[in-house]
Amino acid sequence: MQNNSFDFIIVGGGSSGCVLANRLSENSQYSVCLIEARPKDRSPWIHLPIGYAKTMWDPKLNWKFQTEPLRSFIVREVKPDNPQSNEEILEFCRNHGATIFHPTGTCQMGSDHDPMAVLDSSLRVRGVSGLRVVDCSAMPTLPSSNTNWSAVMLAERAADLILGKIKGP
Ligand SMILES: Cc1cc2nc3c(=O)[nH]c(=O)nc-3n(C[C@H](O)[C@H](O)[C@H](O)COP(=O)(O)OP(=O)(O)OC[C@H]3O[C@@H](n4cnc5c(N)ncnc54)[C@H](O)[C@@H]3O)c2cc1C
Repeated sequence: MQNNSFDFIIVGGGSSGCVLANRLSENSQYSVCLIEARPKDRSPWIHLPIGYAKTMWDPKLNWKFQTEPLRSFIVREVKPDNPQSNEEILEFCRNHGATIFHPTGTCQMGSDHDPMAVLDSSLRVRGVSGLRVVDCSAMPTLPSSNTNWSAVMLAERAADLILGKIKGP
């Protein structure tokens, strides 16, 4: 990398990061650095809808953050209570299964009066200049839709805010 000075540095080339980089680099006046921890997405499984089931469990393609912190706290299975067969487990799933939502809001935006709002309503980190958070973690509540398009819309709006095309509240 020859140039070590950029107008914008984006950490994470996921759903929001890519949209934001794309919008901010539309105008060639700005230089944008997109930093992504993962290697290139060369695996064909990523591009096939059926690859979903495979990529979810592949440590090369998934950070797999989900289990380790809780594992040591699990003492016993509570529900279903001591199932005797796969059929009992399936029956439990049929009776208790529900739609899933995705986690969001770990550093949410909000008004100046909200003590839980790490970000202001323009996605700026309070107390740190020149730093914004633009991804699902900024969402103040869980959207009732799935989160990918919400992340994309958030990035679109953030690009407009950063470029001064709209004014923040
Ligand atoms: C299995 C699964 C299925 C899903 N299915 C759907 C669906 O059907 N519909 C839907 O709407 N949503 C779905 N989602 C949710 C959707 O993927 C997320 O809402 C969306 O990707 C969130 O976008 P994001 O930009 O917030 O984060 P991400 O897309 O997760 O982007 C974060 C990026 O940051 C990178 N990164 C992390 N740490 C660093 C670091 N230190 N330095 C550099 N880069 C870093 C990561 O590698 C990643 O590329 C699914 C999620 C999962 C896990």
